[in-house]
Parts: sequence; C-alpha cells; structure tokens
Amino acid sequence: MDTRTATSRRAPLPSLTAEPADLLVVGGGITGAGIARDAAMRGLRTVLVEQGDLASGTSSISSRLVHGGLRYLEQGNLRLVFEASHERRVLLSIAPHLVRPLPFVFPVHKGDRVPLWKLAAGMWIYDLLAMFRNVRRHRLLGKRGLLRLEPMLRERGLVGGALYYDAQCDDARLTVATARSAVHHGARVATYTCVESLALADGRVQGAHLRDVLGGETGTVRARVVVNATGPWTDGLRRMEDPHAAAILRPTKGVHVVVRRDRVGNRHAVTITSPMDGRVMFVLPWGDLAYIGTTDTDWEGRPEDVRATHEDIVYLLRSANAYFPHARLTEEDVLATWAGLRPLVADPGAAEASDVSREHVILRGSHGMITIAGGKLTTYRAMAAEVVDRVVSDLHAVDGRPVPAPAPTDREPLPGGETAEIEPLRQAGMDLGLAAATVDHVLRLFGTEAAAVYNLARGDQSWRRPIHPAHPAVVAEIVHCVRRELAETVADVLTRRLHLSYETADHAVAVSEKVATVMARELRWGPDRVAREVAAYRAAWERGQVP
Ligand code: FAD
Repeated sequence: MDTRTATSRRAPLPSLTAEPADLLVVGGGITGAGIARDAAMRGLRTVLVEQGDLASGTSSISSRLVHGGLRYLEQGNLRLVFEASHERRVLLSIAPHLVRPLPFVFPVHKGDRVPLWKLAAGMWIYDLLAMFRNVRRHRLLGKRGLLRLEPMLRERGLVGGALYYDAQCDDARLTVATARSAVHHGARVATYTCVESLALADGRVQGAHLRDVLGGETGTVRARVVVNATGPWTDGLRRMEDPHAAAILRPTKGVHVVVRRDRVGNRHAVTITSPMDGRVMFVLPWGDLAYIGTTDTDWEGRPEDVRATHEDIVYLLRSANAYFPHARLTEEDVLATWAGLRPLVADPGAAEASDVSREHVILRGSHGMITIAGGKLTTYRAMAAEVVDRVVSDLHAVDGRPVPAPAPTDREPLPGGETAEIEPLRQAGMDLGLAAATVDHVLRLFGTEAAAVYNLARGDQSWRRPIHPAHPAVVAEIVHCVRRELAETVADVLTRRLHLSYETADHAVAVSEKVATVMARELRWGPDRVAREVAAYRAAWERGQVP
C-alpha cells in the first residue's frame, strides 16, 4: 500500500456501529495504536476508539527516548535491556524521521552514586546487549575529553564519563503514524470517542457503548474481543467490567520542564544523577530548546488532574543547575512544563517509586476483556504483537477461524518512514521558495510525506506562509494534519502534530485563531466552533495546562 497518498480522517460513529468488529481497542496512545496496527495487518476487522486526540494521554508527555534502558542495568534486568535495544533498532528503521540517534554524555563527579568503574562496566554490557549494533559504540572519556564535548558542565569534582548512544523520538507523531498505518490496513480509528460502558452478551464483554465527545451522539460497537489499552485509565475500564476488580496500577507522576537550550548550554543529551536523591535524569536537546526531566513520584488522584507543582519544578531546576552551574536556571526560564502518569504495574515489593517495574502484564478480566498494562513507548511494538497473539487465539476459540501469521510490523515503514533520498525532497522544498528552516522542519516531521505538504503549498501561495512569526512551520502543514493525520481541534494541531505550543514563547496563543480559521475551511466549522476552539486553547494555557 502506498502510504504517501493515503488519507486518514477520524471514523464517524455510524461507521463503527454498523457491523460487528473482530477487535475493539480502547485507548489511542502508543499501546492501543500499536495493537490496532498489528491486528489490522493480520487482517482483523479492527476498531480503535480514543476519548481525546491520539496520544493525548501519556504518549505525548514522555521523555521522548527510545532507549535501551541503561537504568534497568542497575536493576539487573538484562532481558528488558536486550528487548529494548532490539526495539530501538526496529524503530530507527521503520520511522527514521521520527526516531533518531541521539548521543548522550554521562559525566561522573567525585562522590556520585554511579562511580566511573561502574559506569564503564555498564557501558560495555549496554553495547553487548545491543549486540554491538547500536548507532555507535560508547566511548569512555577523561575529564578533558568530556569538557571538550560539554564545556558548560561543572568542572569541580569531574572525574570523567562516557559518550554513548540512544534514540530520541517524537512520541506524539509516532503514535499518530502508527494509528494511520492501522487505518491504511483497514482499521477504523475514531478519536474523540469515549467508551462510557461495556456491552455484555452471554456473560462476555462483546463491545462498548460509545459517545462522540465532539458531536454528542451515542451508539454501540459490537466486537468479538475487546482490549483495554487505556494506560493510566486502565483500572477505570476494568471496573466497568467488574466493579470489584482490584487495582493493578501504581501510577507515578513524571514532570518535565522546557527551557531555552542556550540558557543551559548543553550540546548533547546529558545523563545526570540528581544531587538531591541520586535518581538518573536527563537534560535533553530539542532544537533550540532543552527539556529537563523527569520526576518520579507516586500519584493517587485522577489521571486528568495531574499537574507539575512548584516542588517538581524546583527539583528539576536544582538538579540541572548542579551540573550546569553557569545556567543558574530559575522558574523565570521555564517556557512550559508537561506532566503525566507512568501507567506502571503495581509491585508491592518496590519501596520507592523509581523501583517499580516498567514491564507490562496482559490480563484477562472476569468477563473476557483483555487488559494490557505497563510497558513503555520503546517496547510498544513487541507488546502489541503479544496482545494480538492472544486476540487471534481468542477468535480461533470463538469461531474456529485460522490463526493468521504474525504481522511484519518490524519491516513495514510507518507513513513518512519509507526509504527515500532526502536530498531531492529538500531541493523540492527549496525550489518552492520555502525557507531552509521550514524545509528542515517539514522533513523532520513528515519524512517522505514532505512531498504531500509541498503539493499543498504549491497549490496555494498563502499556505507557504509561516503560521507563527517565530517558528518555521507553514500553513500547508495545518491542512496536511487535518486531511491526513486525524487532527480535529486546534490543540491537536498546535500541540501534538506541530509542537508550536511549546516551541514558541507565547505558546502560539496569538495564532490560535488563524489556525482555527484554516481548520474551519477544511472541517466546515461555523464561527461558533472557531470561537470555542480558540477559547478552549487559550483557557488551557491560562490554567497552566498543555492543551
Ligand atoms: P496512554 O498514552 O495514556 O494512552 C491511553 C489512552 O486511553 C489515553 O489517550 C486516554 O485518553 C484513552 N482512554 C482512557 N479511557 C478511555 C475511554 N473510556 N474511552 C476511550 N479512550 C480512553 N517510555 C519510553 O519508552 N521512553 C521514555 O522516554 C519515556 N518517558 C516517560 C516519561 C514520563 C514522564 C512518563 C509519564 C512516561 C514515560 N515513558 C517513556 C512511558 C511511556 O510514555 C508510556 O508507557 C506510554 O506512553 C503509555 O502509552 P499507553 O498507550 O499505554 O497510554
């Protein structure tokens, strides 16, 4: 299938309820999107419903690392490191525009919790578990070598460190690309469609009662198998199946702060151990920005209420300042924060939140619903395959159909990830008269689908203009997001598709009306909807919440 020309829009409610599906996936984060893709590729009639935008839960507020899991080495979990390293290699190949190699510097100071000898041993094991097929092998460095790479690091007490490799990914766009691939294989994906309760027949969960969050309509989707992939909302859905179901999650809150990179001065990703509690955390580059994170504290409230507190911000800034003393970061430097919940599986043996297992579990509920809980972005593809193995065996048991072969999710590129010469695409953008920064931006976000963005820009001169005076994205990108990437609201475009929300000093509030007006033409919104969209976007930022 040619993913370069395929269009994706959200499936309307009647298209979900008209005929029964084989599989209903609840939750459009990376886990649900991965399951829908795998199932659709195996030929299952698949429906995915998501109550908000794709990746509007945890899957857009991660640390954006596709990582081998260096810290799991400390926990002795070699299997997890091996699996994660394999998955990193797969994602680098199927979505090279969204998952990119990232060099990390790991400095060690005198008295650090991780001494140099331990780091050196860890680095060898890390590369070994990647079967020496990581982007490059690590290099151990002395103090001078380290300072050449990261001149702004604290020199006092520095004894050396390492340069090693992991990968950075655009988490929200990876989720969208995965869901779109599911659509290309025949899945119906309905965003802004909430499961309000489950539909039981013959004592089994066989569908769900849905509400269209944008239009208000309701309907029932029937499905032979239902999978709960709702991340931090997992226990809520399990209790729709069985009000007495025990909680299986122990969610922990993770916060990042975003600052201008030139305020920190980091050239690479830098792995640090917080001087407050010895936890491993990161100062990560994102274009001209740096994001610092993350915290890891228990959370008992509702997932939708999670916020960064003053203490979280102070903790992150103090940790970064300890490594970059010239930065003297204060709260004034914070451009944005994002806070989310790790949907971790409860482990009563773990004393501290950071000790809780990142591995996943797959459970069957009292009325047959399959729940997948835990895991991480890096390993979503492998988790999805495991879940769909269960689904196909359930379907075989229900109606005797043959069990399909595993799906080649590790070989088929995600939309935009097809192997192609990037230089001609770059030249095509320049020939259109787009600024070099815009061409870079388009290639980074859309990969080979840049050609589709250029086609839009070619057709309408006004679509070649920047959306925001201080950002390279152009208007054609908004249209592309609506026509092909299931964007339904201003926040879908500005936050999760194009990232202007936190890559501009005013959170792109000033251009929210312009974006809404472009979307209105595509989605046939009236003036009321435009006004509601702009008000909702502004109000979220006024509450200090990423919309
Ligand atoms: P989610 O993304 O939360 O998706 C669940 C979805 O279900 C939500 O979108 C929600 O709206 C929807 N939903 C809930 N209830 C309903 C309903 N009734 N009807 C319809 N839809 C519903 N992993 C890594 O590999 N690398 C990292 O660098 C990394 N960093 C992290 C940093 C932080 C701070 C956090 C919190 C996590 C991090 N993780 C990382 C872990 C990773 O982000 C998560 O494991 C992953 O995103 C979880 O995806 P998910 O699809 O299971 O959950």
